[in-house]
Amino acid sequence: MALLLTPTSGGAEAWRHALITAMPDLDVRVWPDVGKRADIEIAAVGAPPASALRDLPNLRLIISLTAGIDALLRDPDLPDVPISRSGDPAGDTMMNETALLHVLRHHRFMPDYQAAQQRREWIKLPIKAAHERRVGVMGLGPIGMAAAKMLFAAGFQVAGWVRNPRPGDGVEIFSGARYLAAFLARSEIVVNLLPLTPETRGILNAQTFAALPAGAAIINLGRGEHIVEADLIAALDSGHLAAATLDVFPVEPLPGDSPLWRHPKITVMPHVARRLVPMELAPRVRDIIETFRAGRPLALLVDRKRGY
Ligand code: NDP
Repeated sequence: MALLLTPTSGGAEAWRHALITAMPDLDVRVWPDVGKRADIEIAAVGAPPASALRDLPNLRLIISLTAGIDALLRDPDLPDVPISRSGDPAGDTMMNETALLHVLRHHRFMPDYQAAQQRREWIKLPIKAAHERRVGVMGLGPIGMAAAKMLFAAGFQVAGWVRNPRPGDGVEIFSGARYLAAFLARSEIVVNLLPLTPETRGILNAQTFAALPAGAAIINLGRGEHIVEADLIAALDSGHLAAATLDVFPVEPLPGDSPLWRHPKITVMPHVARRLVPMELAPRVRDIIETFRAGRPLALLVDRKRGY
């Protein structure tokens, strides 16, 4: 039995090498060199081309190498086998760094100071301590929860918005659509770490922006399709929102004619929130395979109906 690898960032050879190092007996086939299709039992996928997993009669498990699985679930030919994600259930340190970086940047008005420097203007904006700043994290999955806890540890007042209530360990929990407005109303800096699902597509829109306090900042680390771009630009232009940092876009690379590039209140980051490290992820892939083969429950099993 073999594993089919559709590589993601880092390159095919690095992923193949990491998987073989973690599982020396594994027969790894790198897409599109599938070989005999009936041999494939497991697929470890980055961003697989549509239909890449079709016609694999003995496929039993798909392991996603990326946290976001929206593109995978959109594949009309996706085989009906369990899908597991492979990230660390305790979160991702690079995503923590990214969340902290951008929260601090907005917390201490760096975009305003950079613009003032261009104008050679000596301005002083009111300085708040972290404990006086309310940060809201949308989505407390493995990455979102770790980022929220780290922001809490850095001293911020942190709330999270989720579907189902749970203990927050210092993070104030708002759950369900009913409490979204209350969550937004208390959040001066919003970090989006939701998965892209039919329910969350376009969730950052004119209505949600209006529910934020005046002067709020948005940091989008989730997916580009979470934001209604025209509504974001309108909310920034009206002055209601102060700034936005976007790491993800519906079309990547961001097209040259996008108005986001030159908007004075928007920071464009070219989807660089983190780097996947094949040598770190490969042992997780091995553990998932072993767990699956032993018939034990998978910790990061995707619920297709829910979309994450
Ligand atoms: P998940 O993708 O597993 O997201 C799950 C969280 O979102 C849960 O807390 C869930 O609530 C909440 N959620 C889902 N739907 C809703 C809804 N309709 N209303 C309220 N809450 C909802 O979490 P991760 O932390 O692992 O990843 C977050 C996302 O970050 C990924 O999906 C990916 O798109 C993105 N990402 C971006 C990267 C980048 O480079 N910019 C890198 C890595 C990830 P509940 O707990 O109640 O089920």
